[in-house]
Amino acid sequence: MHSIYFDHSGTTPVHPAVAEEMYRYLTGDNFGNPSSVHNYGLQIRKKVTEAREKVAQAIGASAGEIVFTSGGTESDNMAIHGAAYTNKNRGNHIITSAVEHHAVLNTVKALGKDGFDITVLPVDQYGMVSVDDVAAAITDKTILITIMHANNEVGTIMPVAEIGKLARERKIIFHVDAVQSFGKIPVNVDELGVNLLSVSGHKIYGPKGIGALYIRKGTRWRQTLFHGGAQERLRRAGTENIPGIMGLARAIELAVENRETESARLKVLRDKLIKGLTGMEDVRLTGHPVKRLPNHASFLFKYIEGESMLLSLDMKGIAASTGSACTSGSLEPSHVLLAMGVRHEEAHGSLRITLGKDNTEDDVDYFLEAMKPIVEKLRDMSPLKD
Ligand code: PLP
Repeated sequence: MHSIYFDHSGTTPVHPAVAEEMYRYLTGDNFGNPSSVHNYGLQIRKKVTEAREKVAQAIGASAGEIVFTSGGTESDNMAIHGAAYTNKNRGNHIITSAVEHHAVLNTVKALGKDGFDITVLPVDQYGMVSVDDVAAAITDKTILITIMHANNEVGTIMPVAEIGKLARERKIIFHVDAVQSFGKIPVNVDELGVNLLSVSGHKIYGPKGIGALYIRKGTRWRQTLFHGGAQERLRRAGTENIPGIMGLARAIELAVENRETESARLKVLRDKLIKGLTGMEDVRLTGHPVKRLPNHASFLFKYIEGESMLLSLDMKGIAASTGSACTSGSLEPSHVLLAMGVRHEEAHGSLRITLGKDNTEDDVDYFLEAMKPIVEKLRDMSPLKD
């Protein structure tokens, strides 16, 4: 029986070197609390400092600008909530896009219920936000722009550096969700011109429940969510997740080391996959054909339910997804596809293949072979056809 994992945008397996590093901080004498003054604490504090430096270096930041969080969702919430409330006296307008992850979209919507004025920008057919639309939406009241670097459902890479330039000129805080892009394409906080940037461990062969938020020095941002101790220099209360932090730093180190070669390798597999599937009748690629993540291929199949494809693929030992991990399982069509102008009935036929470090060309060949009879059978059964 084959076992092929094609859902790396959903989550990734923990790299053995990451697990090894984490185990070190779950066993023996490495259990200290970094806030303690005795030697157990001091040893761990030193390690957390080293980990912070590694994370910072990977994105061109300095260590003092990194805060460890419980993952991408918390980083997004912390960034947006903190920026909004800290700058409320300057204005109440926030700009985002219609295709953001729910960690951003729902946070911004919640602010909308608390007196903030929200602009949700449309996207084009590829899921791309336009820099001109961002420029046109800015008002004297705009305090925050939050736009993702790469979309989790369709893989499209957004023009964040251009938006960052605009934000800097207008002195507006710019947050970027880089949860999907980090480790796959270059992420440098100065090149992107960001004030705040979110990353997550479990998308890059690190553990779940750990992430980081970059906060540019000088940014008018205060923590507004967690009340408690003085950890993370008053930016994130709560005793640090030491095994998680050590695992995240190791995962980031590996991601930086392998990014270029691995992305080039996956791009070849991705393109073979795209060519194979779009060669079939009534199948089209979603997301941008060129400006897309190197490991990401997403499609719309006419007359088929995405869920049925997933079940059929699962029976052949292939794990894929239809859009984001959070929206699958619900009957609602993807907000990303709808924003791209895909019709309701069509949006249900989506399939997302996201490649990772253990995938080979044989996997792609096996998948393409497996898909032919699946599509044929499902279409034969489909009440949607004719
Ligand atoms: N942002 C994006 C773009 C994501 O794809 C995800 C996860 O799917 C998140 C945020 C949430 O990250 P986490 O699962 O670490 O909370």
